[in-house]
Amino acid sequence: MRFTVLELEREAVDYSVDIAAGSLDLDEETRQVGPMRCSGRAEALHEHRSATEVVVDVRLRGEFSGEFEVPCARCVNPVRHDLKGDFDLIFRPAGVDDENGEGSITTQETEIGYYEGGSLQLEDVLREQILLGLPARTLCHPDCKGLCPVCGQNRNEMDCDCATRQMDPKWSKLAELSSRKSS
Ligand SMILES: [Zn+2]
Ligand SMILES: [Zn+2]
Repeated sequence: MRFTVLELEREAVDYSVDIAAGSLDLDEETRQVGPMRCSGRAEALHEHRSATEVVVDVRLRGEFSGEFEVPCARCVNPVRHDLKGDFDLIFRPAGVDDENGEGSITTQETEIGYYEGGSLQLEDVLREQILLGLPARTLCHPDCKGLCPVCGQNRNEMDCDCATRQMDPKWSKLAELSSRKSS
């Protein structure tokens, strides 16, 4: 969904969209596995910077929910995340702050974004909100055993010989004992 600033200047838009599974283009690791819902309000705000200069900002608010899958950081099995969030963001026309050399007055406001070409794409905003909302590191289970670095076996499903021989001192003790017995 695209909001054009000219339209918003006439009237604020209350929106509600359903985004089909897989249609949001996220990063390589993140998949949208269920339909996503987002609703909120877009409106134009006039920023009077001086008697003659008015900057038209877009304020975009919304609430969203959706289901996503991210690979486990250790075993790469897909892990499901049900994500819910909301946002309240301000977008300025791209370049307006640099041109005036007044960028510094706004750097404290972290929620400022920029729009280009007189319009704002809702999906671009959502993509960022989703990636920010997902945990930085996902594990399928707090003590996921991960993949064996030698043979690649998923050690949650089955232990492999290389793992026990190399990593577990308890097993080397046993091996020592049994070799002593047999000699
Ligand atoms: Zn895992
Ligand atoms: Zn192995």
